[in-house]
Amino acid sequence: MLGLMQDRPLLISQIIDFAAEYYGDVEIVSRAVEGPVHRYTYRDAHHRAKKLAEALQSLGIKLGDRVGTVAWNGYRHFELYYAVSGIGAVLHTLNPRLSPEHVAYIANHAEDQVIFVDLNLVPVVEAVIGQLKTVRHVIVMTDRAHMPKDSKIANLLCYEELIADKPGTLAWPTFDERTASSLCYTSGTTGNPKGVLYSHRSTVLHSIMMTSGPVLALNPDNTILPVVPMFHANAWGLVYGAPMSGCKLVFPGFRLDGASVYELLDSEDVDVSAGVPTVWLALLNYCEQNGKKLSKMKRTLIGGSAVPHAMISRFWKEHGTDVVHGWGMTEMSPVGTITRFNRGERALPDEQRFEIQAKQGRPVFGVEMKIVDDAGNDLPKDGKASGNLLVRGPWIVNGYMKGEGTAGFTKDGWFHTGDVSKLEPDGSMVITDRSKDVIKSGGEWISTIDLENAAMGHPAVAEAAVIGIQHPKWDERPLLIVQLKAGANAGKQDILDFVKDRVAKWWLPDDVAFVDAIPHGATGKVLKTELRRTFKDYTLPTA
Ligand code: AMP
Repeated sequence: MLGLMQDRPLLISQIIDFAAEYYGDVEIVSRAVEGPVHRYTYRDAHHRAKKLAEALQSLGIKLGDRVGTVAWNGYRHFELYYAVSGIGAVLHTLNPRLSPEHVAYIANHAEDQVIFVDLNLVPVVEAVIGQLKTVRHVIVMTDRAHMPKDSKIANLLCYEELIADKPGTLAWPTFDERTASSLCYTSGTTGNPKGVLYSHRSTVLHSIMMTSGPVLALNPDNTILPVVPMFHANAWGLVYGAPMSGCKLVFPGFRLDGASVYELLDSEDVDVSAGVPTVWLALLNYCEQNGKKLSKMKRTLIGGSAVPHAMISRFWKEHGTDVVHGWGMTEMSPVGTITRFNRGERALPDEQRFEIQAKQGRPVFGVEMKIVDDAGNDLPKDGKASGNLLVRGPWIVNGYMKGEGTAGFTKDGWFHTGDVSKLEPDGSMVITDRSKDVIKSGGEWISTIDLENAAMGHPAVAEAAVIGIQHPKWDERPLLIVQLKAGANAGKQDILDFVKDRVAKWWLPDDVAFVDAIPHGATGKVLKTELRRTFKDYTLPTA
């Protein structure tokens, strides 16, 4: 017997309608690419999103068409999120930090019809314009006064001109909630990037989950600044979760250095933020060097890479900010687990709390996970066995765009994350490694994440990365690569002595190499592929 409840589709347009009606006066503040700080409200954003939707229709954009964006976090990008998906087209957020080859590949693969681009990112599109096969228009997200005077792109359109004469009276169309809403490509560190196609249903469900009490507990008292880009899995869902919850939204634009982020956090009274560890490292160091305190920021969601124990401790001890450690993937919309204190745990002493926060967290409601061995057999959730992590749930991919990457999916509906992890009896998940980064030494696995975490606890270490180096006896042994803090001094032995007390004896790296800068990819992750290239001829000392 079926339930007797209304089957109203879950649509993204409902989020902006709701915010405009019930949180109409709440502000969206953006550091505009043109320079000044821009302010308006959800009511204004709603009206302009409708004008933009009308403009898109006048450009011939219809249900299912892909609309590319090459843009930072800002109010016009926000309008695109709602205008494009609102009319049933697909918002394709491109990462401007990718190589021109990848940008061209992705735009062609997605068959983008038009591309919206931020003023200072026009060169990214110019670099590939000759290779774009389906793009009919390029629209610069600015007003007439700021439009580029001469560009390699013929007939550049101007965003403000495009929407100026539109009435903004459109009624959002209704369609199946499983309709595609947005598209984000994986980072493609190995092989070509693959397209992850979100639906209205998956997006709305993921957003409700993000705002819920055990996850971010968002409400109209909160001011959120997503440092995580809107091109990285929809800013982890906050572009939808904030208006849903009536939060004030602050967009940092393209200035993500410590000083700029600090200034906005402070002047706009931000109490919740989100971003990858590298951004926070810059902010913590800026605060330390300039005697600044994050007095208002109560919580920050950090993920995308493992959050070092030292970062959790610094945030709490130096600023009273609670780190919410999250793990997920573009393929998971992206959030799968989050640090959540179970009953009684919040009252634990600092160090014990930090231990819990340094794990990747407990699954959010809606995400199921299990670990399996290489033959696909289930492994126990005992905190000892470590295996390939599989997930399933209503906001997790079912397949990649155009049927690619089928090996990632099991016949019975699980998705292979490519991560190796342990599942603990208390429900926590701990990532040991990305499966391609794991070091196999004498038949056993060494966790590069644990080693990096230990090294980053050393006061002189800014960042650390571990890779495996071929070894005649053990197959592979770990090499610790270290970037020291500016002006800090520490030798190899000093760092090894520090790490020795924190990891199993046989895990101790065979050597330490110092570099000026650890390389990062387009979404802020350490580029181990590049490190492996740099150190491909490295020979470990024979001791
Ligand atoms: P992306 O799709 O670019 O967000 O990358 C997803 C991958 O980033 C995951 O499969 C993990 O390997 C890694 N990752 C994300 N969050 C964490 C975390 N908290 N700890 C360790 N690795 C993480």
